[in-house]
Amino acid sequence: MGICHDLNVDLHTHSSASDGVLSPENLVKRAANNKVDILALTDHDSVAGISEALEVSRSTDLHFIPGVEISVSWGGACIHLVGLDVDHENTEFLGALLGIQTGRLERAKRIDESLQKEGLPSLLTAALDFSKNSGQVGRTHFARALTERGFCDSIQEVFSNYLVKGKPGYVEHLWPSLKDAMHWISQAGGTAVIAHPARYKTLGGHLSYLLEEFLSLGGSAIEVATGSHSSVDIRRFQSIANEFGFDASRGSDFHCPNESRCDVGQAPNLPDGTMPIWNKWVGELI
Ligand code: AMP
Ligand code: MN
Ligand code: MN
Ligand code: MN
Repeated sequence: MGICHDLNVDLHTHSSASDGVLSPENLVKRAANNKVDILALTDHDSVAGISEALEVSRSTDLHFIPGVEISVSWGGACIHLVGLDVDHENTEFLGALLGIQTGRLERAKRIDESLQKEGLPSLLTAALDFSKNSGQVGRTHFARALTERGFCDSIQEVFSNYLVKGKPGYVEHLWPSLKDAMHWISQAGGTAVIAHPARYKTLGGHLSYLLEEFLSLGGSAIEVATGSHSSVDIRRFQSIANEFGFDASRGSDFHCPNESRCDVGQAPNLPDGTMPIWNKWVGELI
């Protein structure tokens, strides 16, 4: 089979099962409307939206891939690892995700205390409400609460003034190791992908060590074209993918029609000269 660049593939999206706003059903319908051929739902540390998305996808023309986006601590930074084609009913996998969600709730309490030390009211209940008590509470839910209460005009403004290193509401958190997250993904039958690699600015020259460790742990793919990569980033990670022999992924990282940089299915295209990760699923489409 040839290399298939012509499909509209989106392998990185969020629903209300994590910090997206659309229900899994509405996300799949939006993707189908946007003429997406292959869609993965990759909620943060949760597969709670997968069953609904899978069910709805059966009444559309798109091919649905169950996924996840796992937060990992590496080199003092938080790295995101997308897992594609995972078994969302795997018991060990679900247990591991539950552990991360428990950590998120404990972190949310510390975020709330940190904001209160700066004179803000408690926003924990509001953040949990925004998370729909999905067990997957995160900074975006606090950002929506801060915006709703008028402390900031936009989500972007929140992430400039709060919740990031050196600002009110930032707390250190220990996420799982890269090794553990890769083990869980592979044990659930999935493929691990380093998400939006251009975003790990604080790693500086250590990014190549991350990629080498990922490779040595059996990693085989990175996102090249994503909503947060510039055209310069895309060229850079195309050449890094080829250097390491990684497959290339494409995903919008869509969260919300108003907040997201890019709509479902509208990430920049993968450049020619990359090996699309979806080549292995194309046979299932025919
Ligand atoms: P958490 O996993 O709870 O640390 O939250 C991380 C999430 O916050 C990301 O997945 C994004 O959805 C959101 N986020 C982080 N930085 C920004 C930013 N600068 N602008 C908008 N959203 C952001
Ligand atoms: Mn997010
Ligand atoms: Mn991410
Ligand atoms: Mn994401």
